[in-house]
Amino acid sequence: MTTPKDFSACVAQYDPNALPVEAAQEIVRQWAMPRPSDAQAERASLHDALGRVLAEDVVSPIDVPAFDNSAMDGYAFAGAALARGVDSIDLSVAGTAFAGRPFEATPGAAECVRIMTGALMPAGCDTVIPQELVTREGDTIRFPAAKIRAGQNRRLSGEDLAKGRPALLAGRIVRASDLGLLASLGIGYVAVRKRLVVAFFSTGDELRSVGEALSPGSVYDSNRYTLFAMLRRLGVETIDLGIVRDDRASLEKALREATGRADVVISSGGVSVGDADFTRELMSSLGDVAFWKIAMRPGRPLAFGRLWSGARPGAGKPALFFGLPGNPVAVMATFYFIVREALLAMSGAARQPLTAIRASAAGPMKKRAGRTEFQRGIATRDADGRWSVVTTGSQGSGVLSSMSEANCFIVLEHARGDIDAGDDVEIVPFDGLI
Ligand code: AMP
Ligand code: MG
Repeated sequence: MTTPKDFSACVAQYDPNALPVEAAQEIVRQWAMPRPSDAQAERASLHDALGRVLAEDVVSPIDVPAFDNSAMDGYAFAGAALARGVDSIDLSVAGTAFAGRPFEATPGAAECVRIMTGALMPAGCDTVIPQELVTREGDTIRFPAAKIRAGQNRRLSGEDLAKGRPALLAGRIVRASDLGLLASLGIGYVAVRKRLVVAFFSTGDELRSVGEALSPGSVYDSNRYTLFAMLRRLGVETIDLGIVRDDRASLEKALREATGRADVVISSGGVSVGDADFTRELMSSLGDVAFWKIAMRPGRPLAFGRLWSGARPGAGKPALFFGLPGNPVAVMATFYFIVREALLAMSGAARQPLTAIRASAAGPMKKRAGRTEFQRGIATRDADGRWSVVTTGSQGSGVLSSMSEANCFIVLEHARGDIDAGDDVEIVPFDGLI
């Protein structure tokens, strides 16, 4: 188990005034340990398991398929008939095998069985000739031997999943195909990790909640809504602690309450250079917190560390803490590229790297070397299936509409300078961001 001292040591290797994104991600990765598994498992029915993290491997209790069956509508026969070296095979139809209604007898060497997809292979039969390859006259079929090889069009028992083998691994986030797969094994309940609990709040005297009137100089709090949505999509349990005023007592109360109730605490606002000194001092006094200027845009100021709910650091209950910047786009960019992976790791999920695709820049883009930029882009596919991307225009970190307009982040790497039209850039599509 890492101690607060380790945190300082770990962070001290880096320049907090120009921390590359990769370094911040690495530090966060070291700190986001999954909670111990056995203490954290609960049973969920299939419907409730959707989107949850499996706490244990799911071992297949049966072979799937459970019996050899036909992959086609056609005629089942013994493939040995093909070894006789004749050009054309003639067989007489001994009966029919339907899915769920087997043909009970054993056909003879010169016989075949009309068979439907999914039906049990009749005894002695190992091959299915698809119906469109045969000519049938009365109860006899004929087909060219060259059209088929012995063993074709038969699904073998245990071919999908063998009994006793893991079908899904611990750490998997259960998706649609997994629910179907579990059902195909006859499994109705699985052990899933308890949901990670994340408390969040916004800071700022200028913030008003939806439903309140705006006075001069005030703005509506949008960060609590984007955070709520992003957290929900990750499958964590959320505690919304509202708006916290820019004063020491309110902030201390909110941080302590959040730390006492949650595994992770996320705040927005109050971490930039211009903010009252008490914010930094207070956050530090409740635990071990590093203030970073990450070399990224948007999202430069960020606080990260561990807070304690007790009277002094090390007392009470700890929680991981992310103090995100206040600007609405910066909140989203830092969430996806700094916070997301930590929450998944703490939830016990296997690593799920974001999907990145190469695209061609449709026009020039301004980019400053020495920081990673996450510009908002609109990507389209041309007729040849290649992706090209344009920016949404104004890249101000307060312009939240740029996120609604965009369908991807354009990730411009640390060392890169201006981008010319036609250059390759990396995009991370919004669809599939979990
Ligand atoms: P700060 O990081 O507290 O200096 O805030 C930076 C900018 O983001 C300011 O323009 C704030 O008004 C704005 N801001 C901070 N928090 C929020 C919020 N919860 N919703 C919308 N805008 C915010
Ligand atoms: Mg503020």
